[in-house]
Amino acid sequence: MIQLIRGFKDILPGEVALWQHIERTAVGLFAAFGFDEIRVPIMEKTELFARGIGEDTDIVEKEMYTLDDRGGEKLTLRPEATASIVRAYIQHKLYADDPLRKFYTIGPMFRRERPQKGRYRQFYQIDVEAFGMAGPFIDAQMIYMLHLFFQRLGVSRTQAHLNSLGCPVCRPRFREALAALLNKVEDRLCADCRRRQARNPLRVLDCKVPACREAVADAPAIVDYLCEDCRQHFQSVTENLTQLGVPFELDRRLVRGLDYYTRTTFEIQTDVLGAQSAVAGGGRYDGLVETLGGPATPAIGFAVGFDRLVEVLGQSLKIENPKPALFIAALGETARRKAFYWCAELAAAGIYVEMEHADKSLKSQMKRADRLGAARVLIVGDAELASGQANLRDMATKAQAEVVLAGLVDALKQQSIV
Ligand code: ATP
Ligand code: MG
Repeated sequence: MIQLIRGFKDILPGEVALWQHIERTAVGLFAAFGFDEIRVPIMEKTELFARGIGEDTDIVEKEMYTLDDRGGEKLTLRPEATASIVRAYIQHKLYADDPLRKFYTIGPMFRRERPQKGRYRQFYQIDVEAFGMAGPFIDAQMIYMLHLFFQRLGVSRTQAHLNSLGCPVCRPRFREALAALLNKVEDRLCADCRRRQARNPLRVLDCKVPACREAVADAPAIVDYLCEDCRQHFQSVTENLTQLGVPFELDRRLVRGLDYYTRTTFEIQTDVLGAQSAVAGGGRYDGLVETLGGPATPAIGFAVGFDRLVEVLGQSLKIENPKPALFIAALGETARRKAFYWCAELAAAGIYVEMEHADKSLKSQMKRADRLGAARVLIVGDAELASGQANLRDMATKAQAEVVLAGLVDALKQQSIV
């Protein structure tokens, strides 16, 4: 038997209701904040991610699914959505009418990581991006929206972690201080970090290897190196969050794995997922639109790890698939044909109804109705068709009522029996 690919998974019908519930909650909330849905392809030119995410990030270095198109072009299954949305923003000049644009997208991402709980090779993100706003309001507003999102879903035990990554004005000075520290502790770092040390020292702070974490415990913090503009921006974000009642924690160690992040950076963490504690992450990326060939445009975004959110919520929230309002137990060919038409009419009226298609005993049909969790069962055989009346059984109370078969569908709809 052919099995699915390692690190990929099926989301089975019993699980999908929760995914839909989360999506509905997201869509409703995002609309109230003026975010429009955008759908971008799941494959792009490799170069877009190499430039947009950064050559020396884990994602580009070792996690991308890249293939040679038959025409000789290199294509990559998207590892995240930001680069694609920025490309679309530039390509379609979405800034032309109004440079202030807000988007969200929901869909699969692909990264070739080591599969484990909360970490898959195809996973889903709810991705939100806002363009054209340089001031600190949008930062606080987006973190507030994310906070509301988790609150509405009833996700408890989450905590927002917040840091500022500075900007091209103040980061170089921090980089130098960090590089000096890294030189000192070099022999305690993992092989990856030794490589990162020269090319992208900030990423050493992001390493999950315990020895590396210890080695950089006394590393300088970027917030101590912020320029005046960055400092004010960050202060305003934290003040606005406090005003909005969003709990957060300043996290001097928080850096993002991606090169294009500037200023505000944040992560939502939870303690219920073990090692994969981040359920959402994001931040400002004021330089990316220009880097990818668009007009200089400040921007900020976040991505929620949909799979991890489902895992957190699935522990407390059970959302069932809808159950049939009615099961028609038909006995004999004539009754079955009648049932077939009633089912068609009821379903067309938006009422979920089931019937047995094969010639089965009443007992077996009742069993199936029970297994499906049908609210009521209508029992129809030749005798009922002759008398024009049939028995309607309430499966919960066991109460029975006689219903007239002529005009059954209308009667059921009117009496809101189904
Ligand atoms: P991590 O540090 O956990 O690898 P990341 O920094 O790579 O996360 P981002 O690129 O910021 O993650 O993606 C945002 C969110 O997407 C993460 O917070 C996480 O919830 C989720 N995510 C990232 N990679 C995976 C994966 N391989 N499987 C499932 N969810 C993921
Ligand atoms: Mg990662």
